[in-house]
Amino acid sequence: MGSCKIEFVFDQCYNSFVSLFTDVETVSTCDHLSAERSLALLKQVFGYTSFRAQQADIVAQVLAGKDAVVVMPTGGGKSLCYQLPALQLEGTCIVVSPLISLMQDQVMALRQLGVAARYWNSVLRMEDVKELVGELKAGQLDLLYLAPERLMMEGFDELLQQCRISLIAIDEAHCISEWGHEFRGDYRHLYRLKQQLPKVPIIALTATATPRVVKDIYDQLQIEDAAFFQSSFDRENLFYEIRAKANTFQQILHFIQDRSGQAGIIYAQSRKQVMAISEKLQQKGILALPYHAGLSVQEREANQEAFIHDRVAVIVATIAFGMGINKPDVRFVIHHDLPKTIENYYQETGRAGRDGEASHCLLFFSYGDTHKYLGFIEQMDDATERKHAQHKLQQMSRFVSQPLCRRKQLLQYFEEVYPKVNCQRCDICVNPPKMRDVTLESQKILSCIYRVKQRFGAQMIVDVLKGKSSPKITQYGLDTLSVYGIEESASIAQLRDMIQYLTFIEAVKVVGTEYPVLALGSEAKQILKGEKTVTMPVFQGPKQLDKRVTSSKGTGVGFASGSARELYGRLRSLRTRLAKEKGVPPYIIFHDRSLKEMAVEQPQDLQALLMISGVGETKAQRYGQLFLAAIRE
Ligand code: ADP
Ligand code: ZN
Repeated sequence: MGSCKIEFVFDQCYNSFVSLFTDVETVSTCDHLSAERSLALLKQVFGYTSFRAQQADIVAQVLAGKDAVVVMPTGGGKSLCYQLPALQLEGTCIVVSPLISLMQDQVMALRQLGVAARYWNSVLRMEDVKELVGELKAGQLDLLYLAPERLMMEGFDELLQQCRISLIAIDEAHCISEWGHEFRGDYRHLYRLKQQLPKVPIIALTATATPRVVKDIYDQLQIEDAAFFQSSFDRENLFYEIRAKANTFQQILHFIQDRSGQAGIIYAQSRKQVMAISEKLQQKGILALPYHAGLSVQEREANQEAFIHDRVAVIVATIAFGMGINKPDVRFVIHHDLPKTIENYYQETGRAGRDGEASHCLLFFSYGDTHKYLGFIEQMDDATERKHAQHKLQQMSRFVSQPLCRRKQLLQYFEEVYPKVNCQRCDICVNPPKMRDVTLESQKILSCIYRVKQRFGAQMIVDVLKGKSSPKITQYGLDTLSVYGIEESASIAQLRDMIQYLTFIEAVKVVGTEYPVLALGSEAKQILKGEKTVTMPVFQGPKQLDKRVTSSKGTGVGFASGSARELYGRLRSLRTRLAKEKGVPPYIIFHDRSLKEMAVEQPQDLQALLMISGVGETKAQRYGQLFLAAIRE
């Protein structure tokens, strides 16, 4: 009887229930009940058997009617933290989301799970809005997704007062902060929510939050008492690799050819590069499409859609691409050029492997990129902004140049300590670079820079050291200098690498942007005098690394037998066909992980199929027989 009553009250209005009864025992019984219920719903609706780290605590917090700020990396499982409570609480959960495509994707996925979810944005027709408002007022919606500006529209306040709102979720909450990388002015009005609906819990979620951004989220939303949940920033399933920029296109081509059938994003700095890379890939028979702000809206949407629906494997894009996409099975992210900040790098690589399966992040680096950006930064008017940008870029260059575990460095940037010595999922840990003493070569380079009176760029320094002849060398009499032709053993490429490294350790300075010349940096004197040695990491070729990487185990389900692999291929084709019929992306039907598990476990009936991760009751009903038939075959 007692538990019945508790459940009844719980169903009616959990919030007031908690405040009415302060008896610890009663509350904990209820906690227990709600925890059990959450777990049951997790399986029934989402098809998952357990919560990921912190999800259970966050869900419990929200169910108890309290505010929460959640910082969790991409792919960590933020959505579940409000979707699950939304299913349990009476009324509608309002989800504030910055982009139409994000909302549509989430709603599409929820509806496939049988959840009453809708979005409200500018693309809706009048009659759809009417229907939506009707459902909202009647309390038929579990979740309603909207853009922040919708909340400020005339009449919306009154509408809110007429409905029962169970929870407010602010997705991509870093958009509220100017310190974040995606500031959205509209997010600044969200503080009004707490004033309008003081009893409704707010949950703010983000993947990138430096302490400053977190503070802004608290201040702006006026939720001082919100509990703070921070998960590790570590994306365990991502492999980080950095290679020198040389023959970059060939390297990219081989990388992709080794991964046929996998989806990936290539980020490049300029529109021109984006076009060039995608065209070259197409010529090599790779299904690739470009994406940048210079394309028409229709073309951009069409290309994005082709990628999401797996009609092309690769999208080549400027950083304009990606925020609005939820594609969980992006298997690799390639940076053709250096990202300007570590946040950007983390965010962009974060688009790989949201589904938790092993994925690869490859960045091509040259000091030339750093220098080029410094040139842009120098032209910034605002001195504070300029300094900020320089600092961020410096941190980024240090990240790529230091021979230290990439993961450790990334986490350190987010003020997190990575406890392991070897992460086993980065190029440095898998294939540690050798440290080489290059003091002698460095002295030659530095004295050459000095002898040519700091008037020439890297190319000329290398030419002089190698004793090349050219009209310019003769014209300036550089062939008469003592440093002319003194470097015999190091190759031109090696000398260039060394110059770049010397720039990195500030022994060399690059001056000017249009015709950059090399000058001596603050560390030069000590090196020239022999008071300081120079050791430089020498990275081994990518070939060698690839072997180690492919033999290193991913976090996904592997295939022990060829028949499982074959079945997986067939299940994928079935998924593609169904997705096409329904006009939804394949991952909305089932994730790769679910198909892999099906291929390995080979469930024979619905009961067994429900044991597969990602198979909830609605999906089992909708697609179960089709997939079972394919497995039996
Ligand atoms: P985020 O919004 O944090 O980037 P999502 O909410 O999109 O992450 O979740 C990432 C992926 O992890 C999704 O495919 C989701 O279905 C899956 N996921 C979330 N929670 C769980 C869980 N408890 N068990 C298994 N998979 C989960
Ligand atoms: Zn590592």
